[in-house]
Amino acid sequence: MEDQFWHKGLRKKLVTSLESKGITDINILHALYALPRHYFMEKAFEEMAYEDKAFPIENGQTISQPYTVAYQTQLLGIKKRDKVLEIGTGSGYQAAILGLLGARVYTIERHRILHLNAKRLLQKMGLKGIRFYHKDGYQGLAEFAPFDKIIVTAAADEVPQKLLDQLAIGGHLVIPVGQGTQTMMRITKKTGGELVTEKFDKFKFVPFVNGIEN
Ligand code: SAH
Repeated sequence: MEDQFWHKGLRKKLVTSLESKGITDINILHALYALPRHYFMEKAFEEMAYEDKAFPIENGQTISQPYTVAYQTQLLGIKKRDKVLEIGTGSGYQAAILGLLGARVYTIERHRILHLNAKRLLQKMGLKGIRFYHKDGYQGLAEFAPFDKIIVTAAADEVPQKLLDQLAIGGHLVIPVGQGTQTMMRITKKTGGELVTEKFDKFKFVPFVNGIEN
């Protein structure tokens, strides 16, 4: 796309502010610098694309705040070729960041329109290695399990057992859990299947909802 170098100055400022908030992974900072976030937003909000804020997208959903995207991605500890399941494609921005980091991404969205829009945009941008599914994220994608990393980008009341079942040994599941505000949790599956849970900062996500919408 011809305007992908627009707003590089604004992206640089955004990345510097994320660095000062504790995002230290250089590959993640580079990915956020490289990816034009305004592509993922509605016209009305494009001007504000490089503010560190969440914004509305279709179907009453949101594109996550860049800090939140960077934070969750950092907790995942992505390595090239990692097989990553994302629940909640939304705008496709988080999936694109994972793709830029060299992950093999499987992303699930319950709203058909969002699923189709994200798929179309990322294909138009020429981003490879991302597969899109219009499905219920509570079910995960058993046919492609196990996943090295699983990221949930909607607020869960509890950690879905099916997602834990689809996590590889040594893998991480990063998920915001709680009502109202959520605690970011990272669950690691150790050798032998033992689960270790770590708790991080508080965030506010749109809800993780059962079933799909057409
Ligand atoms: N990762 C997104 C954030 C989108 S907000 C981005 O970068 O823009 C969370 C998304 O999760 C919403 O689009 C919502 O529709 C979706 N979602 C909620 N419950 C879901 C479920 N059960 N299965 C799949 N997607 C779900």
